[in-house]
Amino acid sequence: MSLVVTGTIGIDSVQTSSGSAEGVMGGSCTYFAAAASLLGPVRVVAVVGDDWPAEHESALASFPQIDLAGLERRTGSSTFRWGGKYHDDMNERDTLFTDLGVLEEAPPPVPDQYTDSKIVFLANTHPAVQAGMLAHFPNRELVVADTMNLWIDIARDDLGSLLQRIDGLVLNDSEACQLTERSNLVEAAAAICDMGPTFVVIKKGEHGAFLHHPDGQAVLPAMPLDASQVVDPTGCGDSFAGGMMGHLAATGRCDLPTIREALAWGTVAASHTIAEFGLGGLQAATEESMRERFDRFRSITSF
Ligand code: AMP
Repeated sequence: MSLVVTGTIGIDSVQTSSGSAEGVMGGSCTYFAAAASLLGPVRVVAVVGDDWPAEHESALASFPQIDLAGLERRTGSSTFRWGGKYHDDMNERDTLFTDLGVLEEAPPPVPDQYTDSKIVFLANTHPAVQAGMLAHFPNRELVVADTMNLWIDIARDDLGSLLQRIDGLVLNDSEACQLTERSNLVEAAAAICDMGPTFVVIKKGEHGAFLHHPDGQAVLPAMPLDASQVVDPTGCGDSFAGGMMGHLAATGRCDLPTIREALAWGTVAASHTIAEFGLGGLQAATEESMRERFDRFRSITSF
């Protein structure tokens, strides 16, 4: 089924205990699309400014099944920029700066050929922008969104409206607690579903993910990685969502067993992302390396 993602494409500066990277390609949409493209076709709706480096665009275009017809390069505008620094344990990070740039302007237009998209992923950006995007996809059958602490802090009402219009929400554990004002993740997940979505996936970093669905629950660990394999967690959440949604699009199903398997594909995608700064880890991935790691993950988690 046709998959489209809307969200941010930007330029990141990242510091981790493994080193630092300046001016690397980043953004919620970027990591999502790169990961999803390893499982099937994905359409991109995003906007960058005229400072967007040509080498970033060609790197993005080199992913096997990314359709960039919906990527607008806006003259006279600045690309979204984000900087972050990870704590030594790589689980927590501090945002050093967020320059919204072109994201403060009108959202990008959606190409006519995208309007038949059946599966819509609203990658992290302002919830009002996420909600506005839905009007462009009248044939949507499944809508899943991501969000983050910033929007819970400054756009809670818009987020509340968005939650009533989506089927699934993906967010991390601290955000789930912040959104619901609960400290227990099982209760937080149920409380989120009371706000609108049918299912919720709570990401727990190196501790895996938890799915709350009307037909039941599921938990998956993260891929066991040693310290040398953990270089930069930036984009792991978006890549996780890309792997997950890529699998749902490939199967055309959204029942509990399929979402559970999709979480495993998300885990595999994220394990590639974390191995290098920026998109380097996903650039090194192939359909074969994804499958090989998926099989290994399955054997690790089955009992
Ligand atoms: P993740 O590590 O999966 O949470 O995603 C990190 C990516 O999100 C980075 O590449 C950033 O460019 C992007 N990002 C950071 N802050 C925001 C924001 N407020 N809205 C949208 N994207 C963001």
